[in-house]
Formats: sequence, structure tokens, C-alpha cells
Amino acid sequence: MGPIVHRLPGPSDGRRYVDGLVAMLRSRWLTHRPFFLAHAATFGCNSRCQTCSYWKLTPRMKEDLSTDGVFRMLDDAYAAGMRGYYLFGGEPLVRRDVGELVEHARRRGFLTTMNTNGSLLAAKASSLRGLDVAFVSLDYFNDHHDVIRGRPGSFREVLHGIERLREETRAKVTLVTTISTLNLNAIEPMARLAQDLGAMISYNAVEPTLDFGLTDDTQTPNRSLGLSPEELHRFYETLLQIKRQGYPLFESETVLEDFVRGIPWRCEFPKMFVYVSPDQKIYSCDYRYGYDLRHGSFEEYFASDEFLRLVRDAESCNRCIRTCVRGYSYTYDLRPQHMRELIGDARRLFGGRGNVPAVGLPPRSVGHPIAEARPRAR
Ligand code: SF4
Ligand code: SF4
Repeated sequence: MGPIVHRLPGPSDGRRYVDGLVAMLRSRWLTHRPFFLAHAATFGCNSRCQTCSYWKLTPRMKEDLSTDGVFRMLDDAYAAGMRGYYLFGGEPLVRRDVGELVEHARRRGFLTTMNTNGSLLAAKASSLRGLDVAFVSLDYFNDHHDVIRGRPGSFREVLHGIERLREETRAKVTLVTTISTLNLNAIEPMARLAQDLGAMISYNAVEPTLDFGLTDDTQTPNRSLGLSPEELHRFYETLLQIKRQGYPLFESETVLEDFVRGIPWRCEFPKMFVYVSPDQKIYSCDYRYGYDLRHGSFEEYFASDEFLRLVRDAESCNRCIRTCVRGYSYTYDLRPQHMRELIGDARRLFGGRGNVPAVGLPPRSVGHPIAEARPRAR
């Protein structure tokens, strides 16, 4: 028997997906404005990842926007044409009202997605019935993940959390693995784990800073944990190789081939996503502060010179090493080969294979084959 799913009021799933597609096409051909609200819902986090300093902001959780404040922001975003809601943090599941936020977004007509470290998924699964897609961070195929994430027991929490989410909801699961010098050898084993779990997987190479300006390129812990240009090139080559072997990677072959060949591209990201911090400020993708929503609206921001400059400058930026940013841009540009692959991958995510029961927990590992996995001095 499949999961028991309670009916939620609001538009049907089909309607929300069609609306999301129409919103993207409207942006593509008419408005050039974002249709996905990426909301860092809290400054809090219960992990201490070696590759991130965001958890140091946890004392600022008191600045997180209230439940009603988030509802109002969602309504404003909907009125401004946005149809996707992407919750992240910090760790969004540390918010007590996270289920209410997801449900309000879904009832309002948004596609609902979340990036989570997975540690609280089991405890919160029953409140997440409004969630469409969960991106669950997992950086290693055994409990060395706990070392990278600075949270004992988190590998098992993640696997158990995915099982519970599937029992309680219809959310589709995609693993997200961030590759640094701590886990360079985990690329293929993680793809195998995703396949065993019946999940898709997406990879990122760790970036200099992901903390809304808390650190800069000279202070970030990722100066010593980031990949060298040669390692980055091998990272893309490996992804391409395992994608061609049929592993369930979210990245298209087209995107990976172009990374390997060093082909320049046009970034459409600012036309697709708008980042909002827990205290309601819009940040540009390079985390330069952009706009204070407490004294304005999405409509006003999109009409501002600053937003128009960001969109224009992005087209030739090419700075991101993230595969997802390039992938989103290729989707926005409706690149034919990429779109053909994307449709196949979407079938994989939303079809039968996207939500098969999780396998049992792997045996607790004792040794970690991580000869390469240590910070490199710079
Ligand atoms: S990467 Fe995510 S889970 Fe890890 S410390 Fe940063 S915000 Fe928390
Ligand atoms: S490539 Fe540049 S403009 Fe595009 S998301 Fe990355 S930093 Fe922003």
C-alpha cells in the first residue's frame, strides 16, 4: 500500500505544475523576472558543516520572519508572478512552523521545494504533506558524512528521514552532494547510493562562500576545502562519465559536456530566482546586499535599476561553478538537447522510480576509505 496522503485544499498538483511552466515561459518571453522565490527561512542550523559558516548565525534566529510575515511575503510573491517556493536556510526544519509555511505556499498555488540537511526529516515528515520535492544534503556514503557535517549520527538520520518522508508524503527526493577535498572520492559511490535509494542526485563543487556575506573569499573555510582547477575539471569529467553510465544524475549531459569543454554560457539565474534572507532582504546571487523587502515589495524591486543591472551583468558573468545554475539557465533558454534530457529526468523523478521504498540502512561503517579526504593547505 502506498503512503496515506491527506487531501490539501488549494489548486490541484496538475494546475500548480502547469502554472509553474507558464510562469517560466512568461518570464522567458515577456517579463524577464524571477518566478521562483528562494527563501532562506531561518538563520538557525543544527549542523556544523566544515564547508559552511552559516551555522554561526544561529543566535540571529530571533530575527527570522514570523509565520504571518512569511505568509504575507508569499502572497506578495504570488501577486508578483512567482509560482515556485524554495525553502532553505540555515536549516529550514529547525523552524517550528515549517509545515505551516509549506502548506500555505501549496494552498496559495506554489510548487514547493526544500533543501534540508535531513537531520529532522523523520521528526517533521508528517507536517510536510504539502511538499513536492525535497533536496536532501548527503555528502558521503557512510557515517564519514557525520564528520563533514559536524553532527554525530546525521548519516543515519538522513536515511531514516527519507524513509519517513516517503511514508508520510508524496514528496520526491533528490540527494544533493557537495564535493570538496573532504569527499572527492565519493562521487561514484554516492551515485550508487542514490540509485539504491530510488532517488535522483545532484552534485555541487563547494564554493568560496554561501553565507550571505558572513565571510568573504579570504576568510571562508572553503579556501582550504575547495577544488583546484584540475580537480574541478576532473569533477565534471567524472559526473559526465557516470551520467553516461545511467546513474540518476540531475545534471544533463549537455551541461556537463559544456563544463568539461569550457564553453561559455549565458546566466539566466537572476531572471528565474530571487533570494530572500531570513530578515527579509533580497540578496543578489553573489550575496551583495540588494534590497530591503520590509520597506517595499517584489514588484518595486523588479522595477528597480539595480535589478535590471543584475540581470544584464549576469548574462556574461560565468562565475558559478554550480551545475544547477547552468542547468537552470539552459532550461530557461529552452535548449533543445538539454530539454529532451530534462524531460527524461523529470519522468525518472516523478515516475515510478522516483519514489520507490528506501532500502534498509546500510551497516554502520567503521573505517572510512578517505585517503584524499583532508583539507589542502593553501
Ligand atoms: S551547509 Fe547547511 S546544514 Fe551545513 S552548516 Fe551550512 S546551513 Fe547548516
Ligand atoms: S553565474 Fe554569475 S550571475 Fe549567474 S548565478 Fe552565478 S554569480 Fe550569479
